[in-house]
Amino acid sequence: MRHGSIPGARGRVRPLTLLGDTVLREPCREVTGFGPELADLVEDLFATMYAARGVGLAANQVGVPLRVFVYDCPDDEDERHLGHVVNPRLAEADGVVLRGPEGCLSLPGLEAGTERYDHAVVEGVTVTGEPVTVHGTGFFARCLQHECDHLEGRLYADHLTGRRRRKLARQVARASWHR
Ligand SMILES: [Zn+2]
Repeated sequence: MRHGSIPGARGRVRPLTLLGDTVLREPCREVTGFGPELADLVEDLFATMYAARGVGLAANQVGVPLRVFVYDCPDDEDERHLGHVVNPRLAEADGVVLRGPEGCLSLPGLEAGTERYDHAVVEGVTVTGEPVTVHGTGFFARCLQHECDHLEGRLYADHLTGRRRRKLARQVARASWHR
C-alpha cells in the first residue's frame, strides 16, 4: 500500500480545543466548498485523531466550525469502521438505549457512563461531494451519535444527569487542562 493512501499520512496534527472553548458550544456551518482546503482538513483531522489515540474527531475539536467528522472506530464485534462524513445528518438513532463508558478528546483523561442508542445511521457526503451513508451498531453507533452531537455544539457531558453529571463536573474542575 502506498504511504499516501493511509488516512492522515499527509495531515498535520492540529491543537485540540478543550471544554470551555466556545467553538465546541456552537452549531457548526454546512460545508459549501469541496476544494483542496476541505481535503486538507480531513487529512489533518485523521492525523490529529491518531496522534491523540481517539476513535473519532469533529472539526470544531481543532477549532474549525464546519460540519465534518472522521472516525476509525471498532464496533462491539470488533469490526473496524474507518471514514469521514461531510455535512452529516443523524438519519436514525434507535434500538435499545445502553449506558457505556464514553470519553472525548476535548475532555482529556475523563470518561463517564453515557446513554446512547445501540443503532445509528448517518447520511452525508464525502470530501468530493459523493453521497455516503454510514451504519453503526454498539460502540460505533455511540461514536456516530457523539460526533454528530459535536457539530451541534453538544458534548457527552450534556447527556449526564444526577450523580454522574456531578462527578464529571468535579473531575473537570480538578483536571490539569481546565481553565
Ligand atoms: Zn468528542
